[in-house]
Amino acid sequence: MKRPRPKAPPKIITGICTNCGSEVPESDIVMLSSSKDSAYRQLCGWCSNAQAAAAFGLNGFEQHRFEPVQVLDCAGVPHEFHFRTTLFGPGVALNASEIRNGFRSGYEFQVIGDSEEDPMILLGRLLEKIRRALAVKHLVPEVYGLRIEEHGVVRGIIGWDDDEEGLLPLLNVDGRKVTWDELGRMLMTYEGWQFKLEIRDKSEEV
Ligand SMILES: [Zn+2]
Repeated sequence: MKRPRPKAPPKIITGICTNCGSEVPESDIVMLSSSKDSAYRQLCGWCSNAQAAAAFGLNGFEQHRFEPVQVLDCAGVPHEFHFRTTLFGPGVALNASEIRNGFRSGYEFQVIGDSEEDPMILLGRLLEKIRRALAVKHLVPEVYGLRIEEHGVVRGIIGWDDDEEGLLPLLNVDGRKVTWDELGRMLMTYEGWQFKLEIRDKSEEV
């Protein structure tokens, strides 16, 4: 009998920044059009922020390369977060993405600050937000699938589901992918109950 071949790990897609020449993950690539010839240039997040700061005249903007950080969830499981800064006009967004086996997968967080805010203070706010979120679980795995925790609250991020061609969302709850169908099945435990659905920006506290 033939032994099944082990699956090759998925390849990490990267891109080269046309400004500094560094190779970065595709998620950190920004396509910027030049005002001279309207051609697009591929820049890393760092160079794109530096160019945006110069264009906006933000002399006080400073960016920092944050090292990845591990945060334990309430079950004692470590989650590794990588950070990405994005400057947008008067504000700056600091994003934390969980990385598993080299890929963005799991929890995603964001805080927004002033473009001249101390990056370390912004990081402190983001880490507090991550710790608060990881201290709570919303779903419990059971033999027949997931169920909603006793507290009856589900927080998550609405994502794109390729399998549904974008017609139904793929949710990210407790750092795991949850289909719309799965959530529907979990809700049927509460048939006849009320519910409240609130939609908030990624940077807000829910
Ligand atoms: Zn660059």
